[in-house]
Amino acid sequence: MQDIFLYNTLTRTKEKFLPLVPGKVGLYTCGPTVYNFAHIGNLRTFLFEDLLTRTLRFNGYDVQWVMNVTDVGHMTSDGDAGEDKMSVAAQRENLDPWSLARKYEDAFRFDMQRLGIHLPDVLPRATEHIEEMIRLNKTLEERGFTYETPEGLYFDTSKSSDYGKLARLRLDDQLQGARADVNVDSEKRNPQDFILWFGNKPTHIMKWDSPWGVGYPGWHIECSAMSMKYLGDTFDIHCGGNDHIPVHNTNEIAQSEAATGKTFARYWMHAAFLNLKNKENPNTKLKMSKSKGGFIQVQTLVDSGYDPIAYRYLCLQAHYRSELELAWEWLDADGKTGRADSLDTAAASLKRLYERIARAEKDNEESLSENSQFDAARIEVLNALNDDLNVPKAVGLLHTYASPRLWRAFDAVLGLDIENHAVLPAEEEAPAEIWKLVEARLEARKARDFARSDALRDEIAALGWEVADSPQGPTLKRKQ
Ligand code: AMP
Ligand code: ZN
Repeated sequence: MQDIFLYNTLTRTKEKFLPLVPGKVGLYTCGPTVYNFAHIGNLRTFLFEDLLTRTLRFNGYDVQWVMNVTDVGHMTSDGDAGEDKMSVAAQRENLDPWSLARKYEDAFRFDMQRLGIHLPDVLPRATEHIEEMIRLNKTLEERGFTYETPEGLYFDTSKSSDYGKLARLRLDDQLQGARADVNVDSEKRNPQDFILWFGNKPTHIMKWDSPWGVGYPGWHIECSAMSMKYLGDTFDIHCGGNDHIPVHNTNEIAQSEAATGKTFARYWMHAAFLNLKNKENPNTKLKMSKSKGGFIQVQTLVDSGYDPIAYRYLCLQAHYRSELELAWEWLDADGKTGRADSLDTAAASLKRLYERIARAEKDNEESLSENSQFDAARIEVLNALNDDLNVPKAVGLLHTYASPRLWRAFDAVLGLDIENHAVLPAEEEAPAEIWKLVEARLEARKARDFARSDALRDEIAALGWEVADSPQGPTLKRKQ
């Protein structure tokens, strides 16, 4: 197996990847909160996770990919303040929260498919793992890591010796954070303490019995309970978007390691954001967010005339740790359709790529026809992918080699669906009167009347067709 290097947020370095069990990888990624459609920023993170999984599989690893579906407990702030996003949306849409969750989970699966993202092996729903969460909270309680207030059960971060190691949080940052958050529970002991279970919530629409009263789980405990259920107390890789570093993933580590006394995830990988660039004010970066309205979904791309794979191709051109800017221009006031120069360019170059591959294959042009050449090029591209997923470099190399065989091999990672797209446009059938002219030209040639045959060729050309002579007889092609 080739060496793989991954940037680990925990150590802030690129490390050689060594799985717990040779040949196997346990991967957990924070999934969608299904209170709305996913926006293409969320999907950029899921696409990065798809590329990671595909790269590991391409290298021969047996990957078990688990992604949660958050259908309860994610508050309108990423901390404990505000309301449950699910109940806010359920009221807005006049749906019960379960139907709302299924509606957006189905939409999420469809969007993943439209972007060529393979679905994870397990997609556990939070509401179906309440028992596991309660059990984990009980363990934390037994081990002395919790306390109760009228709000519910809290994790006491002062009991954790290395709280904040992922984000490298310092105590003064924590105090500042607390000052900014005016909604804090006055009985909370430390600013960074967080809810494990919201108790005393008999009127909440999604609620369960627990030793800490009727209520619902905190968002962070969901990921700890589901990841450890499917992958064990210690597993290989945990991913999420950059925004999850300071709160959500930090809290997952604290509570999981407190409960088991073991390392939780060994490698932490985080994807940089997709930002919208404001056309009128190009220096303003707008964070794309579901909660602030006006966001771009896969359906927005489709309604705007883009093949979603063009967005995938655009994402492949930026490294996952670099932010990606999209200068999106809305074309209508209600935010249904829009356009972006970079997407237009990506769509056009992807179309040319498909055509080049199809034409080269038709003409039997293969730049790497020797197996030894092919193998060397394959290793070079694989090394780029294995260098912390340097997809832009891998794509650059594939363009340089221009080998249909190599493109097809790496489509297992890139997911551009070359199989179904690299087809030449169907040849148009010429009408009968053009064929009559072709026959007349053939007669003229047989009679060695070249002046007449040339004149007929020009006449055919003037009608938009090109005639060519082959050993099987003349052929007709639409003029370019
Ligand atoms: P959510 O559905 O809000 O829980 O987010 C799902 C995933 O999308 C998480 O891993 C987030 O970190 C990630 N995410 C949220 N906004 C963006 C963005 N603008 N660009 C890239 N990833 C994002
Ligand atoms: Zn999570």
